[in-house]
Amino acid sequence: MPLEEYNKKRDFTQTAEPEGKTEKSAGKLRFVVQRHAASRLHYDFRLEMDGVLKSWAIPKGPSLNPADKRLAMMVEDHPFAYRTFEGTIPAGNYGAGEVEIWDEGTYEPLEKVKGKTDDFIMQQELQKESLKFVLHGKKLQGEFALVKIKNASEGNPWLLIKHKDHFATDHYDAEENTAPDSKVTAYLGTKKKVNPPPPHP
Ligand code: MN
Repeated sequence: MPLEEYNKKRDFTQTAEPEGKTEKSAGKLRFVVQRHAASRLHYDFRLEMDGVLKSWAIPKGPSLNPADKRLAMMVEDHPFAYRTFEGTIPAGNYGAGEVEIWDEGTYEPLEKVKGKTDDFIMQQELQKESLKFVLHGKKLQGEFALVKIKNASEGNPWLLIKHKDHFATDHYDAEENTAPDSKVTAYLGTKKKVNPPPPHP
């Protein structure tokens, strides 16, 4: 069952996150990156495919520097409706904390196949555990690769890598590219005040 794991992890009487249903965009494939302050700050990278959002949690966030190979842990599929979700996940719930949209847009496979839809091509690449795509976001643009790390001992780790193209830069820090009025940054600030670090020995 698609989205069964997503629904099982969440109590929709408690959280404002959307309930899991499969749904497709009418036009081009969509992607979203959500900045999420949970037990740890991370960026959730989500690609629309087969009526859901295939999802990876990236601790350091995406980069436009081809030298950065960003660890991306594949997590459960999220519903397509999740692409517009922002706000607070209440304490005691899965992923409790603050979520904001960091980037969004459309994407397409780098290599087109005549007679096949973009969605079909991406699903095939996912099965082969090696995706090559072009992002058309506000922050993330150009060619990227997402490849599974073979023989990993734990979890489902992948690497998100920027290809060398004219959108590539030699320095990029996602944290330097957040909105000045970011609610996630504000949330991180309150957490530090509530839970001060232990005194230095
Ligand atoms: Mn998350």
